[in-house]
Amino acid sequence: MKAVCWHGKRNVQVDTVPEPQILNPRDAIVRVTLTGICGSDLHLYNGYVPTMKEGDVLGHEFVGEIVEVGSAVKSFSPGDRVIVPFSISCGDCWYCQQGMWALCDNSNPNSMVLEKVYGDTGAGIFGYSHLYGGYAGGQAEFVRVPFADTGLEKIPPQLGDEQVIFLTDVFPTGYQAAENCNIHEGDNVAVWGCGPVGLMAMKSARHMGAGKVVAIDRFPERLEMARTECGAEPLNYEEIDIPEALHNLTGGRGPDSCIDAVGMEAHGTGLEAAYDRVKQSLHLENDRPIALRQLIKACRKGGTISIPGVYSGFIDKMPMGAVFAKGLTIRTGQTHVHKYLRPLLQLVEKGDIDTTFIITHRMALDDAPMGYKIFDDKQDGCVKIVMKPQAASQMTH
Ligand code: NAD
Ligand code: ZN
Repeated sequence: MKAVCWHGKRNVQVDTVPEPQILNPRDAIVRVTLTGICGSDLHLYNGYVPTMKEGDVLGHEFVGEIVEVGSAVKSFSPGDRVIVPFSISCGDCWYCQQGMWALCDNSNPNSMVLEKVYGDTGAGIFGYSHLYGGYAGGQAEFVRVPFADTGLEKIPPQLGDEQVIFLTDVFPTGYQAAENCNIHEGDNVAVWGCGPVGLMAMKSARHMGAGKVVAIDRFPERLEMARTECGAEPLNYEEIDIPEALHNLTGGRGPDSCIDAVGMEAHGTGLEAAYDRVKQSLHLENDRPIALRQLIKACRKGGTISIPGVYSGFIDKMPMGAVFAKGLTIRTGQTHVHKYLRPLLQLVEKGDIDTTFIITHRMALDDAPMGYKIFDDKQDGCVKIVMKPQAASQMTH
């Protein structure tokens, strides 16, 4: 079968690899009908996540049709169209039972590595390095899905793949980021990053009753999308001082909550950004927390910092004094997609929230090398790419 494989820094290729097999009675094999490239994939693409191996199959956002199930799978059968959460969760461990699905104790066979570095492990993730289990991902024609009864959700027949694909990751991720802000009616929420995650966080914050939603980025087309689709006030961080502008927009107080939908590859200008860039390239710092420091500075006293953006290791010059002095709450983590999948699917079914507006590019899987490049470089107005494994190689947007 065809699959998008990692071949080193900024090098992905579409290879022919063996089709997946049922390895465990609780597995299902899914024929992928639509798959996306996520901002998290860019961290792999740019070589910031260790333990990637040449030939690893990428992709953790995908929907498809079941073609085979293991003998212990009870709720699904071949022919079912399904949504697949990006993290793999057993459903039986203490964490899954508490609803902390992305912290599953049983789905990461390489948990020892994370335990050494972080003190404990996270769940396995499709196509996301050997740290997270070494599972083959869904940017492929077929994928093996463990714990099928636990993770999968059937797609209602009236909904197309594009309407549900973002339930696998970025919609629940934006929703959890907003929920972590504990938004009260009329709260002011500022969101750094107008990529798919930031945009979904803005939509969700609106849905939860936020007052002002402010969107921060530097790409005009993304800021415009935040304005028109999410009712956000756009701020370009290359043109103005963000903490000052946010104070002015909120009566001098600062936003009640600030969402970091940027993560470890934040862009910036000036001395501070240069410092992080040099330290990261010398491996003296894992992540560039340029946006995160700004969030902490801008947030109002007693406010919440919500971090859906991915960080991988150690960061420098963390303004912990400001976090303490201002009494900030920090909430973060991988998204518990399983927890949000059904309620958010209902919002999509009712037509309350439509997430398809983020799709700017539709491609065939064969075009993945070009897709990664334009999404990483934010060329051609690219916000989100979806790819069809079986379609003819043709780009339409
Ligand atoms: P993306 O690359 O499309 O978006 C990132 C945006 O941040 C870009 O528009 C970029 O211009 C902007 N940005 C860069 N530096 C900035 C700065 N200093 N200030 C403001 N904006 C800045 O990616 P995405 O798909 O939207 O993902 C965003 C983050 O969320 C990534 O780190 C990704 O790994 C993470 N993520 C986390 C989860 C989770 O489970 N927590 C799930 C999905 C994605
Ligand atoms: Zn993702």
